[in-house]
Amino acid sequence: MKLCMIGTGYVGLVSGVCFSDLGNTVYCVDKNKEKISQLNSGIVPIYEPGLEELIKKNYKQKRLFFTSDIKKAVEISDIIFICVGTPTKKNSNSADLKYVFQVANQIKKYIKKYKIIITKSTVPVSTGDKLERIFHKKKKLVDIVSNPEFLREGEAIRDFTSPDRVVIGTNSEKANKILKTLYFPIVKKTSRYISTSRRGAELIKYASNAFLATKISYINELANLCEKAGVDIKDVAYGMGTDQRIGERFLRAGPAYGGSCFPKDTRALLETGKSFNTNLSIVHSVIKSNEDRKNLLTKKLLNFMKGKIKNKFITFLGVTFKPNTDDMREASSLYMIPYLHKRGAKIKYFDPSGEKKDFKIFKNVEYCKNIEKACLHSDLIVIHTEWNEFKFLNFKKLVKKSNIKLYDMRNVYSPLQMKKDKIKYFGVGR
Ligand code: NAD
Repeated sequence: MKLCMIGTGYVGLVSGVCFSDLGNTVYCVDKNKEKISQLNSGIVPIYEPGLEELIKKNYKQKRLFFTSDIKKAVEISDIIFICVGTPTKKNSNSADLKYVFQVANQIKKYIKKYKIIITKSTVPVSTGDKLERIFHKKKKLVDIVSNPEFLREGEAIRDFTSPDRVVIGTNSEKANKILKTLYFPIVKKTSRYISTSRRGAELIKYASNAFLATKISYINELANLCEKAGVDIKDVAYGMGTDQRIGERFLRAGPAYGGSCFPKDTRALLETGKSFNTNLSIVHSVIKSNEDRKNLLTKKLLNFMKGKIKNKFITFLGVTFKPNTDDMREASSLYMIPYLHKRGAKIKYFDPSGEKKDFKIFKNVEYCKNIEKACLHSDLIVIHTEWNEFKFLNFKKLVKKSNIKLYDMRNVYSPLQMKKDKIKYFGVGR
């Protein structure tokens, strides 16, 4: 089939590339011309394991195209995926749909024969109805479908090609039949193809993300209790998670959840609740708990340092919101590092995905090109993101000091081993 992905970000690029790898012809469109020209010269603008190889392969086979020519891409394609961002609106908790509606208004004039228009972006329930109104003059030529994306950055290719489920929201039998064929190679193995109403599909995405965010906040709050009760949260999480009704995933205590989805999607769901006159008090509490956590963990760090951070070298290992991605959106380091810097700490950081523009404005925040440089003579090491690179470190060799302090925000190391190694250790909920 001929497909067009509008918005070549984490979602549009990965799904476009994976669809092309299944033999479809895919046009990835973006209004960011620099991104398109980078992709056309073989530069991948995001860090995602395995993506570069797949791009090269399919680009060479002329199944994958990168373009800013939205008219041509839409006219050629049978299916159009809208994959633009839906960030939180300024001064409100709602999802900002301006990019989605911009795309709809842009492409409506290019619809001259039947096309399926899909929102892959995460959009609040009833957005499809609004899109239908934009396309009302082309009513007979388009089916507006919701097909939310569930991939996770860092594991995006595997998630896209072996998803737990594919959710398709439409009442159109014609669109459903075509999409079943498109997704057949993906769902044929283990995953489920879920056909539902468009509003149902839109809400499934928010319901899933808010539930996962709830799981994280729940275990994080229990970690606070564990610290006071002398229990290791890892034991509790394991004991809970082995119950199949609960499941082990998303039960790892750590910093506040971040990233491009959970924070904005929980906020947007709360607003959707309001607009439908429904009180989502659990979602409300989760958002608050997560906001409080940024502050709480920073305060715990200060306590660990006995309040003395002025002119101290603090090393952050990892600054992204999770490993295997370069995405900094709503990472807790964006709160912690400026806070510590403002109080006179000297920050060094290393992240395998490279230097971050977010910290370039701070005088005493230094990006180090390797772990050794980042850790040398440090007064405190903070494991902020659990990249594999940080899992087997010899801190004595790295820090080259007698008094080593480690704040392990991801509970990577064993407190017992650290005690044996004479490293002052502080984890989360243990
Ligand atoms: P992103 O910011 O990485 O990419 C969006 C892209 O859209 C940008 O490159 C931007 O230039 C482009 N764009 C905006 N307006 C455009 C227009 N008019 N024409 C062409 N291009 C345009 O966003 P993302 O992380 O890929 O997220 C996209 C959507 O998918 C969001 O709704 C998000 O919630 C959802 N989602 C994201 C993830 C994730 O892990 N990132 C996972 C599932 C769902």
